[in-house]
Amino acid sequence: MESRGAGRARSICRVRLRRNEPTELFARSVGLDTDIVSKEMYTFEDRPAEFPPPPTMGEMPAHIEGIGRLMESGTIPRTESNVNTLKLLNNLVGELYPIREKTFEKATQKWIEFFFYLNGVQLGERISLRPEATASVVRAYIEHGMHTWPSPVKLYYIGPMFRRERPQKGRYRQFYQIGAELLGPSDDPALDAELIEMLLSFFERIRLTGTTLFINSIGDKNCRPAYIQLLRSELRKVRDRLGADSQRRIETNPLRVLDSKVHEEQAVIENLPRIAEHLCPDCKAHYSKLLQELELRGVAYKENWRLVRGLDYYMRTTFEITAPGLGSQNAVCGGGRYDGLVELLGGPAATKGIGFAIGTDRVALSLQSEHKDVAGSSKYELAVVGTTGDTWNEAIRLAESLRKSGAEVFLPRQGTRLKQALEQAAKSGVRVAIIVGEDELKNQRYTIRVMQPFYEGGQRDSSIAVSRAPSYAALIRVRSELERKLKTWAVASGLAPSAFGISSLLNLMMQQQVLPPKTPPLGKTWGGKT
Ligand code: AMP
Repeated sequence: MESRGAGRARSICRVRLRRNEPTELFARSVGLDTDIVSKEMYTFEDRPAEFPPPPTMGEMPAHIEGIGRLMESGTIPRTESNVNTLKLLNNLVGELYPIREKTFEKATQKWIEFFFYLNGVQLGERISLRPEATASVVRAYIEHGMHTWPSPVKLYYIGPMFRRERPQKGRYRQFYQIGAELLGPSDDPALDAELIEMLLSFFERIRLTGTTLFINSIGDKNCRPAYIQLLRSELRKVRDRLGADSQRRIETNPLRVLDSKVHEEQAVIENLPRIAEHLCPDCKAHYSKLLQELELRGVAYKENWRLVRGLDYYMRTTFEITAPGLGSQNAVCGGGRYDGLVELLGGPAATKGIGFAIGTDRVALSLQSEHKDVAGSSKYELAVVGTTGDTWNEAIRLAESLRKSGAEVFLPRQGTRLKQALEQAAKSGVRVAIIVGEDELKNQRYTIRVMQPFYEGGQRDSSIAVSRAPSYAALIRVRSELERKLKTWAVASGLAPSAFGISSLLNLMMQQQVLPPKTPPLGKTWGGKT
C-alpha cells in the first residue's frame, strides 16, 4: 500500500488488485441483469490442464468417465448442475451404443442431445477479466480484514478494465480507470461530499476544465423496491412506445430505462414517476444533507433524477462527471454509495461504502481537446540550443545545470542546425530558447529567443550574461506556473476561453476590473533585457 499525489493529503492508500476474478464476484455485485455482466464481460473457464481434448465419437464413454473421475477428485467443480448433467450424459451414452441398431435420424438426434449436454459441463471455475474494480476492492477489504483498520478505510487503484462494448471514440474494450473507495461504519453524507470534493480537486490539479457534476439519490432497500414496482407498472403502460432494449429492461431492470439515450423514448421517460418523490424519510434526509455539504464546500452540482448508473450495487448517492470535447461518451467519472455490498460479499454488515471511478482515456481525450493551445501544456519549460564543437559542449553543461535545479529542458540533438533546432523547440512547446552560439561564447552572453505562440510582439530576442542563466531559468519556471494557474482559474470560472494568450487574458482581466488597470503586461516582457 502506498499513498501519494492528490491522495496524500487525505491519507489514502493504493490497493493493487487482480485483473481477473471469479465471474461469480461480478455477477453478485454488479448484478446479473446489468449490461456489464450479461453482455460485456470477457469470461472463460479455467479448465484443468490435464483434461483430455474433445474425443472422437468412439471415445465418448471413456471421456464421460474421465469427467466423472475429475469431478470426484474435485478438479472439475462438483456443482449440482454438473452432477445432474453427468447423470444425463451417462444415460445418453447407454442409449447411443451400439449405434448400428439405430436409424440414422434417431442416432443424429441423440448425438445432438449428447453434445448439447456435454457443452453444459462446467469444467473449471469461471473467471472474468474485471469490468470494474469496486467488487475487487471490497473482496480485498474483506479478505484482509480491513474492517479492523482505523475507519474510514480509504483505498485507491489504477489499472485497466475490460468490457465487450461497441468501440467508438472514448469507449474501448480495454480502458483505464483511477478509482477510490471509502469504507467504514459511517454513511454520513459529509463523506460523500468529501469524496466528491477530492475528485474535483484532482480534476482541477490536472487542469481538466469545464466539468459538470450530476447528482442523484436512488434510494435504498426500503424505498427503491416500491419505486421500481411503480416504475415497472408505468412502463408496461407505455411499452409500445419503447424500443426493444427498453422493452426488455421493463422486466429485467426497469431503472435502466431511465438511462436510455434513444431519441424517440425521451418524451415518454420525462413523464415517468421520479424517484425523488418516492424516497423514504431517511434517504430523503441523507440526500438533502449531501446537497448541503456540497454547497458548504462550494461544489457546484446539477441534479439529474435519471442518473441511475449501470451497476446494481449502488444505493442512495449516485453521481457522474462529464467533461467537454468528448461527443456522446462524455462521462469522465462515475460513482456512488454501495452500503450493502460488503455484507453481500460476506463482510461485516455494518460496513458502508462510497467510491468513484475515473475513465482516464476520456480524461486524456478531453485534456487534449481543451488544452491543445494552453500555455505550459508541454512538459518542457525551456530549450538550450547549441550546434557543434564548443557550442554543443557548453549547451550540454548549461542544460545539465538547469536540469539539476529542476527545470524541464529540451536539448535538440548534436549537429542539428540552428534553424531546425529552434523549429523543434517550438514544436515541443517550449516558451524560451537559450541560444549558445559562437558569438555568444565570445561575448559571454546567451541569446534569449521567445518562441511562438508566447511571443506577442515587442522584443523577440534579447541576451543575458552567462552567469545569470540559472536564475533566469528559475524565473521562467515560476512565471510559467503562475500563468498556468491564472489561466486555469480564468477558464474554469468562465472568464475567458482557453484559446486566450496570456496578455489578452491580462488585458481582459484589467478591462473587467478583476485586476487593477496598471498591472504590467507580463506577456510582453518575456524577452525583456536582463
Ligand atoms: P463505470 O464503471 O461504468 O461507472 O465507469 C466509470 C468511468 O469509466 C466512466 O465515467 C468512463 O469515464 C469510464 N469508462 C467506462 N466504460 C468505458 C469504456 N468502455 N471505455 C472507456 N472508458 C470507459
